[in-house]
Amino acid sequence: MFLEKKLMPDMTLGSYRDLTPSVLSSLGATALISDIDNTLATYDDLDSPPEVEEWIASLKAAGISVTLVSNNGRRRVERFNSTLLCNAYSNVKKPSAKYLIAAMADMQSAPEETVFLGDQLLTDALAAHRAGIRAVIVPPIKDKKSLFFRFKRALERPYMKKYKKLNGGDAEKENIK
Ligand SMILES: [Mg+2]
Repeated sequence: MFLEKKLMPDMTLGSYRDLTPSVLSSLGATALISDIDNTLATYDDLDSPPEVEEWIASLKAAGISVTLVSNNGRRRVERFNSTLLCNAYSNVKKPSAKYLIAAMADMQSAPEETVFLGDQLLTDALAAHRAGIRAVIVPPIKDKKSLFFRFKRALERPYMKKYKKLNGGDAEKENIK
């Protein structure tokens, strides 16, 4: 039961682009911590796509602080962030909450003013909830086809199903908070 609460998304959206300044404002959020891989771009996108740049610019223009956190290595994160120029952490070892807490300290945001965006329940949602942050979950842009990833998705399925059930069957754009 305890773990179930930690894994359930607080909100699901169809894409990172749906997390607009007005949605963040409706959540009372002034700071965003975002995953990179499969949330903002595929593993194959070494550079951030122009749509991501536009989205980050729109958030910054609305006064929202943004920190990127990735379990991926420093080179990947630095290159991806080279045009975004966000605060960023690599090798963060989610579901550890350590660097999410560090990111909030950087942005001087309280957990209730912060939202986490990611694509995985077992790493992203769990890390967010350990840090006391709400988790917005989007479908992975392009899943790795490895057995390990398929196994992780299979573990997540019951929680996504339960979330959909609690939210009237439509998991998209539903806010349970
Ligand atoms: Mg990811």
